[in-house]
Amino acid sequence: MFENMQDVRVERDVSMASLTTFRAGGHAAYAVYPSTPEAWGAIIAAAKKENIPFAVLGNGSNVLATDEDFAGILIITTDMRDVRVEETCVYAQAGASLSAVAVTAMKAGLAGLEFSYGIPGTVGGAIFMNAGAYDGEMQFAVKQSRYLDEDGQVRVLEKEEHAFGYRDSYYQHHFGMIIDCILQLKPGNPEEIKAKMDDFMCRRKSKQPLMHPSAGSTFRRPYKGYASQMVDECALKGFRVGGAAVSEMHAGFIINDREGSVADIVAVIQSVQKKVFAEKGVMLEREVRMLHEIILNGIFNKNIP
Ligand SMILES: Cc1cc2nc3c(=O)[nH]c(=O)nc-3n(C[C@H](O)[C@H](O)[C@H](O)COP(=O)(O)OP(=O)(O)OC[C@H]3O[C@@H](n4cnc5c(N)ncnc54)[C@H](O)[C@@H]3O)c2cc1C
Repeated sequence: MFENMQDVRVERDVSMASLTTFRAGGHAAYAVYPSTPEAWGAIIAAAKKENIPFAVLGNGSNVLATDEDFAGILIITTDMRDVRVEETCVYAQAGASLSAVAVTAMKAGLAGLEFSYGIPGTVGGAIFMNAGAYDGEMQFAVKQSRYLDEDGQVRVLEKEEHAFGYRDSYYQHHFGMIIDCILQLKPGNPEEIKAKMDDFMCRRKSKQPLMHPSAGSTFRRPYKGYASQMVDECALKGFRVGGAAVSEMHAGFIINDREGSVADIVAVIQSVQKKVFAEKGVMLEREVRMLHEIILNGIFNKNIP
């Protein structure tokens, strides 16, 4: 179905484990990598015409796939990764690595993205999630983003229209595939910016189980307290189902350290939720998004040509 399409790389029958940092899941019928917004628009037009489900993935660092194969299209943004600096702004395409953008900004003497160094996602995924760490969040940097609407038209969202909240944005509630953005930063000293970034990276390495597949913090911050502390206090560190477990190093991380299935990971998530609710009266909400939650045209599986 992608014959004669330009500016798109197409892979068939792709392991979703290879596309997500949890490293679990079955196969997707297609992984397609547009390198222009026009190609991206053509992909969604074709998918809609054939009534085939599609979803957008950046680096897959906050998505849990399905063990079941996905008879649909994963549109992967990482071939759209241009980054350029204009005065105190950074222009970045959605598929650019967030850490790479932070490094570009640092080298240009621009402060404001230090917090994001080490978050293993793309710029598009970070805007979608309003990713944050160490008192920083994407919302403080985003000046504007552009996205494709359902008809493949390019639309613009200004800063205040993003409806940013804790790990929340406009894009979680409206159809919109982010193609690029402008980040407004502040002049700073590159050495000081780098020192801050290195410090944050050190803290990550010392506290997070980065050696194992995961999607970072599995749960959102609850209305009171901290998810990791509650999980720890419920003596769940090391709790395991099959290949997945609560990290011994950081109770907020569920890791897939023994090549587990999505079912293993889901079982750990649900067991943790159950025990924390029983002992603390708090229902932890997932921050990690399931594949069926990110499908943009409302249908999960359908036989496709
Ligand atoms: C080791 C580790 C550490 C982490 N640390 C942090 C942290 O400190 N702070 C934090 O906030 N998160 C953290 N995360 C989670 C994750 O990295 C972030 O949520 C990141 O922003 C996700 O980006 P991504 O490109 O991987 O998005 P994906 O996981 O690919 O997608 C996430 C969501 O965004 C949507 N999406 C992606 N790109 C687009 C686009 N261009 N247009 C529209 N929708 C899009 C997807 O459909 C999906 O719903 C961590 C994850 C890991 C594995």
